[in-house]
Amino acid sequence: MQEELIQNLREALKLSPQNIPLRLTLAEALLNNNLMQEAEAEYKIVLEAEPQNTQAKSGLAKIYFAQEKYSTAIVILEDLIELKPHDVSLLMLLSRSLLRNDEQSKAMDYYKQALQLNPALLDDELDQYLRKPATAPPGDMEELLESIEQEVRNMERPTVNFDDVGGMQKVKDEIKIKIIQPLLHPELYKAYGKKIGGGILLYGPPGCGKTHLARATAGQINASFISVGIHDVLDMWSGQSERKLHEIFELARRRTPCVLFFDEIDALGASRSDMRHSANKTLINQFLTEMDGLDSSNEGVLILGATNAPWHLDAAFRRPGRFDRIIFVQPPDVDGRNAILKILLKEKPVDAIDYTALAKQTPDFSGADLRAVIDIAIEEKLRESFEKGIPQPIRTKDLQAALKQIKPSTKEWFNTARNYALYANDSGLYDEILEYLKIKK
Ligand code: ADP
Repeated sequence: MQEELIQNLREALKLSPQNIPLRLTLAEALLNNNLMQEAEAEYKIVLEAEPQNTQAKSGLAKIYFAQEKYSTAIVILEDLIELKPHDVSLLMLLSRSLLRNDEQSKAMDYYKQALQLNPALLDDELDQYLRKPATAPPGDMEELLESIEQEVRNMERPTVNFDDVGGMQKVKDEIKIKIIQPLLHPELYKAYGKKIGGGILLYGPPGCGKTHLARATAGQINASFISVGIHDVLDMWSGQSERKLHEIFELARRRTPCVLFFDEIDALGASRSDMRHSANKTLINQFLTEMDGLDSSNEGVLILGATNAPWHLDAAFRRPGRFDRIIFVQPPDVDGRNAILKILLKEKPVDAIDYTALAKQTPDFSGADLRAVIDIAIEEKLRESFEKGIPQPIRTKDLQAALKQIKPSTKEWFNTARNYALYANDSGLYDEILEYLKIKK
């Protein structure tokens, strides 16, 4: 399928050679398939047109690292990090390149910076220099379990439910039918000979409520909620990821009813060129076995997955009984934005707010973007309140001023998604994206 995608992207590029997102998608696909030289050529064409394109630069850095051209990778990465100082994966790549280039102390500086941003990171090679063996991944089971319990401390009983999720009616209905009803009425399903189980995969642009909805699903049925980032499983426990994954499922089975939520699920099938962030076959198989519940029953465990990049996920995940429902979580429409604004401003000091006007003025805003708008307005109000000595309510025009400072974030995602929907639309999997973009099939 990857070869076909590459072929299709090449054809499409012939027709629109100036289309940079398309060329970047091709370069990424080439990189994922270890076609380094061809990927390099495409990234270079992008950089000719846009010398500051960060995606192309980081693609090149990955290629040079893989080709062991560490000093070239370092030059590019140092340059990139000036532009994106908080990008953990760039910091790690730079740190690893420096280490391989015998620049240990600089490597450690960047590793420390990365660790500050994400304390859960772990890199065996770098650790040999930096960390004491005591903090290396624990060897025995007891320690492992302890750390899992600790790490899954974000296990919770959510207090939010579907009422706290604006819009998304279709998605809520689908979750109700597919996983909530079977959980509440298993005997009915069994009587009709309908198999229970399987999970739902939510995909779409970041910030549009996938995590929020998963948490609300747990709240809706008063279940516990366990949230797991696949990158954490990969990063923290290199070598022990399979055991850890098994323990996480076991934890969920002990706490039923439970919503087990996997974020960044695409990392399980992610780019092969970025070895540290890609799962090996055993981990993928472990995940599938756990999902199938062959050894232990998953009754009472609702499995939800989320991803911004469903195209990286192996088709094996979509087989019946696994993520056999794939739902597109799109940016909120005007009514959705209206509802989200009301939810986010609930119980805040507001004047009569013109929600209809605000919803109209925020096309392409995600739920997270709307939250950012409100945060800005609130900060401004706090400042005013301190100056005047009396609390100032939030007004429509405060929010209107704030929204000018936020750029809607969902458009960029569609640049990439459009290409997959057009050129790798395996049995209509991404038809909803085309529909959303009003592209005729
Ligand atoms: P995703 O998982 O899709 O990246 P999140 O669920 O983390 O997005 O959304 C980020 C934040 O934006 C949420 O914590 C929530 O406050 C807000 N948000 C997003 N969508 C909605 C929605 N439909 N209703 C209410 N709040 C939302």
